[in-house]
Amino acid sequence: MAESADPQRRRHYLAALGIEEWLPRRRPLASAAPEPVTPGWQELEEAVARCTRCELYRTRTRPVLGVGDRHAQWLIVGEAPGAEEDRRGEPFVGAAGQLLDAMLQAIGLARGRNVYIANILKSRPPGNRDPAPAEVAACLPYLERQIELIRPRLILAVGRIAMQNLLGTDSSLGRMRGRVHEFGGLKTPLIVTYHPAYLLRKPEDKRKAWEDLKFARGVFASLA
Ligand code: URA
Repeated sequence: MAESADPQRRRHYLAALGIEEWLPRRRPLASAAPEPVTPGWQELEEAVARCTRCELYRTRTRPVLGVGDRHAQWLIVGEAPGAEEDRRGEPFVGAAGQLLDAMLQAIGLARGRNVYIANILKSRPPGNRDPAPAEVAACLPYLERQIELIRPRLILAVGRIAMQNLLGTDSSLGRMRGRVHEFGGLKTPLIVTYHPAYLLRKPEDKRKAWEDLKFARGVFASLA
């Protein structure tokens, strides 16, 4: 399990995830105080499964942590689970997910092969409404930890909600396209494009999404 060398960062996770202490699975001798550890995948899965940090746990069917290659170089971040994702516990498995898969294939990628897919929220907002700021604040530490564990080379934020919350901006998606942004302390390159659900409603913008994907593919190639 990866452990943060930075005690301040570790405290941040413990507080943000609302868990007093992350304990190693195998405790040392009974007399020795257990060392707190930074959450790994198993702790994240358990924490998300029992999370009550916002009210969405009351209405969700299953939490949706993410799916794919945990050593992926590409991370795709969407908004929140929809109805089908809530039922199956996997992100982007409905109609928008099929389009996302096609978008990935267009640049030579495939779900689960060097790609990890996650959302800003792990629980479905009822009626697919926009995530509330308090829900994002409660949930974002999980995604931040996923990013630390995966250490992707490139993040592709799909849609306004993912873009605004990852970059901490109110800017429109249109204004943020076509540039390389950075996410977090690791300064992970981040590129934005349209959400596939939006593209299903507005197919005339698929051409612009294709421009974004080609841009992302080129940036990724230049990082390698
Ligand atoms: N839309 C999203 O943003 N994420 C999903 O997982 C499904 C639909």
